[in-house]
Amino acid sequence: MKPGQTREYWGHLSTEPAGLRELRAALGVVALSAIVFVAALPFADRPLPHVAAFIPIYVTALVICDLITAVLLLSQYRALQSIELLVLGGGYFFTAAVTAAYALIFPGLFAPAGLLGSGPQTSSALFMFWHGGFPLMVMAYSMAKTGGPGPPRLNRVRRLRPRIGIVLMVALVLAVVAAFTVFATAWQQRLPVFLQGDRTTELGRAFLLGVWTLSVLALLVVWRRRPHTVLDAWLLVVMAVWLFDLALAAILNTGRYDLGWYAGRIYGLLAAGFLLIVLLSENARHYARLVRLSADLSVANEQLWQLSQRDALTELANRRAFDRYLAEQMAVAVRHKRALALVLIDVDHFKAYNDHYGHHAGDQCLNRLAAALQACCRRPADMAARYGGEEFALILPDSDLAGARHTAEAARAAVAALGIEHAGCSTGLHISVSIGLAVVDPSRAMTMAQLIVAADGALYRAKDGGRDRVVVAAP
Ligand code: GH3
Ligand code: MG
Ligand code: MG
Repeated sequence: MKPGQTREYWGHLSTEPAGLRELRAALGVVALSAIVFVAALPFADRPLPHVAAFIPIYVTALVICDLITAVLLLSQYRALQSIELLVLGGGYFFTAAVTAAYALIFPGLFAPAGLLGSGPQTSSALFMFWHGGFPLMVMAYSMAKTGGPGPPRLNRVRRLRPRIGIVLMVALVLAVVAAFTVFATAWQQRLPVFLQGDRTTELGRAFLLGVWTLSVLALLVVWRRRPHTVLDAWLLVVMAVWLFDLALAAILNTGRYDLGWYAGRIYGLLAAGFLLIVLLSENARHYARLVRLSADLSVANEQLWQLSQRDALTELANRRAFDRYLAEQMAVAVRHKRALALVLIDVDHFKAYNDHYGHHAGDQCLNRLAAALQACCRRPADMAARYGGEEFALILPDSDLAGARHTAEAARAAVAALGIEHAGCSTGLHISVSIGLAVVDPSRAMTMAQLIVAADGALYRAKDGGRDRVVVAAP
């Protein structure tokens, strides 16, 4: 990955390519599961006590894990609008729903023989449905993948509004699970005999082998659709652990409540937990990035605001900042009947200066003038601005006529003191400025435009009067 390119943009499990780190972690988990599986294998049929609390804890944990996983995947689908996330989210919602149904009909949980009029084969039938349905959804997920890793393509399924897609998927899953549950309870006499007491029959084992094969197929389908995303990598882990679960809990053991059965269910819980943990840590990563980004954004916004208020050449306040500040100070002056002075400053014969010394020298001259004028702003509320071209302005809040005239004269003197040579100047050998000054009369209502016109009129009179002087606008 190039620096600066980025997890910022690719950072979703469903679009980020699985790197070496993810593949290693995934392989490690599968290898560890395989070791535990092999170690448990010789004891798979060892009978263990019937722990009554085990199944309620197991199904509750499963339903909660799968529901949260489904919510996270479906909300990613809403954000990224990639149909495969809708399918996978539907798959997890399916396992949550079918596990809940399984809990309802499981003998001894809510009623001695299970609720909803279930029979001895109902829980097995639902188990097969559950363990067959999920791999089918995983295959559908893999086949629905339109592209490999890459930036999210937001308009991939524009035809389907995400919210409608989710509602349809949830309704479909609920309908299918409800229909199958009704079928497995109402028609339970017609179900094949999967279990004799707590022991799996030959027929049951054959069915389970079929279901197991579906999981192998799902694993292969996800494996073959390359390149793998991070989500694919973890889904491969989930399917591998799911295979161990089925093998121990249903095929290689003898039936309910033996070691294989318990171990398999613990595998099942782990499989449900993996993706959830990965999704939650992805969420945490996104949250941390959001916090960082919003802090960066505030800093950038502040810098942008500062830039938008500065003149690029002289770094004085620009015309936009001048307009805003003068309007603010006008409002304060009028409301509180306080004094306010505006000083407009125009460089004398600056066109001739440019023509004689060149534009670059002209720019440097403007810079030096700006610094000198800024230095004349003694009070914190005073503002020096570049009004436009070779014109500057001083806004002097709380300055009466005498005070403002003093500042204006100081500005003129400061420019003269720079002693910038100007051969084509009518006022002498150096750069000079003409200044117009107007003050807000606290006893009279005055608009900002009127104040500017007054100062501008005074400036013109300064030019007409021979330049290099301060002229005060008539009250
Ligand atoms: P007056 O004494 O009547 O003000 O004469 P003037 O030549 O200063 O006035 P005029 O409006 O004719 O010319 C203003 C000149 O200021 C023209 C323009 O090239 C120059 N100027 C405006 N902005 C800049 C700038 O950013 N850099 C430089 N170098 N020159 C600028
Ligand atoms: Mg001018
Ligand atoms: Mg000028």
